Amino acid sequence: MGEAPVESRSAPNGHVRPEPKPAAIRNTEPATGEPLPEVAVASPEEVRAAVARAREAQKGWAALGFTERRRRLLAFEDLLLARAEEVADVVHRENGKPKFEAILHDVVPVSMLTSYYARKARSILRDQRIGTPLFPHKRSYIRHEPRGVIGIISPWNFPFSLPVGEIVTALAAGNGVVVKPSEFTPLTVLKAKELFDAAGVPKDLLGVVPGFGPTGAALLDSGVDMVVFIGSVATGRKIAAACGERLIPCTLELGGKDPAVVCADADLDRAVRSVVFGAFANSGQICASVERVYVDKRIAEPFTQKVVEITKSLRQGDGSAGEVDVGAMTTPAQLEIVKRHVDEAVAKGAKVLAGGHAVAGKGRFFEPTVLTGVDHQMAVMRDETFGPILPIVPFEGEDEAVRLANDTPYGLNAYVFSKDRRHAEAIANRITAGTVMVNDVLYTHGVPELPWGGVKTSGIGRTHGAQALRDMCWIRHLNTERVAMNAPWLYPYRKSVQSALVKVVRTVLRLLP
Ligand code: NAD
Repeated sequence: MGEAPVESRSAPNGHVRPEPKPAAIRNTEPATGEPLPEVAVASPEEVRAAVARAREAQKGWAALGFTERRRRLLAFEDLLLARAEEVADVVHRENGKPKFEAILHDVVPVSMLTSYYARKARSILRDQRIGTPLFPHKRSYIRHEPRGVIGIISPWNFPFSLPVGEIVTALAAGNGVVVKPSEFTPLTVLKAKELFDAAGVPKDLLGVVPGFGPTGAALLDSGVDMVVFIGSVATGRKIAAACGERLIPCTLELGGKDPAVVCADADLDRAVRSVVFGAFANSGQICASVERVYVDKRIAEPFTQKVVEITKSLRQGDGSAGEVDVGAMTTPAQLEIVKRHVDEAVAKGAKVLAGGHAVAGKGRFFEPTVLTGVDHQMAVMRDETFGPILPIVPFEGEDEAVRLANDTPYGLNAYVFSKDRRHAEAIANRITAGTVMVNDVLYTHGVPELPWGGVKTSGIGRTHGAQALRDMCWIRHLNTERVAMNAPWLYPYRKSVQSALVKVVRTVLRLLP
């Protein structure tokens, strides 16, 4: 299973003999503990072959042009919406989130992103002319050329929208793709592949290579032209080092420890409902989850009371049918991290106002938990918890709130709540994060036009929006001429040119607006 590969088996003589590394992925459903179908691990040779096939197929795909690529991407979007339930079902079974969330966070955002890139790729990537007033007889253009084959390595928390959003971006720019899905959620990506195939995206253009970390490493080693990695900071550092070695660009979307600052003039009901959703959606397994709440001490009591009240009303369980608000934790290891953070905080004096425990039974559930009495000495306030935990800290004065919000190596998202937009924006501008939202949480990842990504250890580069599409291209600068003219600095060097050079530049620079 994703949890532990099988690496050996008994030989007829009773000795255990090593199995050649590529094992099978064997997972259990997070919500029920039932076994999921096995998935074969791709060997390094299979990874290399997938990249070679994608490279060959990319030539034809790039030659198709925007109109035909748009048609096939829109066919994929159409199929996705038509088969939304089927996709949501696999996502739920592999990841443990309620089907509602699989539709909300995986299917719907990808359909919107696909439509956006299918329709806008041509205009975003059109040639750009660069003016050169000092060289009026010349013309310069920026051309966006597809990089070739993009390697994508993805996590398990949004098993469909990550990596399918990035696959769509790469295809819209004219690239081939080979994707290594998380070992916990390969079936979802294989389902996506089925839809791309049915939509007329050439089969070899998109390769899926299931496996564990070594399969991801093999992908880095297989000659891809760029890597998009979404996962933990620890793995992100290895990816960046490997890309540095190979001198290929990478986009890194890594972890977060996102703060919410709730000002005294916030709309209390809106702030509470947003923060609770931000902390517990996807069982808190979102890079942009609200992981720390700082609330003005003047409203800390009513705020905390309301948070606890709503948290206790949340319905947790197997969200395959019926109305469930909070689903399962996807991996056994993540469940252990959450337990450790809560236990350590409690041992150091934190108070549990709601939840606080793993739920007994076959599924992997941790109760939605509200903590107070926490501080930055505790892992739950410092490290990424990635679970349904909402720690609340009262602050005195907004300088303190900003200092606490910035007291982290991460910088993915941050949230500010205030009814006064200018006030909220002034605080937002002091927080170091890739995105700061005013009076809202999480949702901008689902808006195709908006850039997504972090600063500090939360990552490098952006997904979504125009920038991500351009990043999937290399830049050809074409310099040509409007009027034929010999450059005066060609050999032989002349004294007269040397003295004219400074004079001419000086005169022309003064004339520029
Ligand atoms: P992870 O780093 O453990 O694994 C991510 C992927 O990398 C998996 O496919 C894994 O098999 C692969 N991998 C592991 N070792 C590798 C190696 N040496 N070489 C190449 N590939 C390797 O992360 P995870 O547990 O799957 O995901 C959770 C993390 O992802 C959290 O930290 C979360 O914040 C982050 N995340 C970030 C974003 C974002 O947009 N910033 C979005 C989702 C998740």
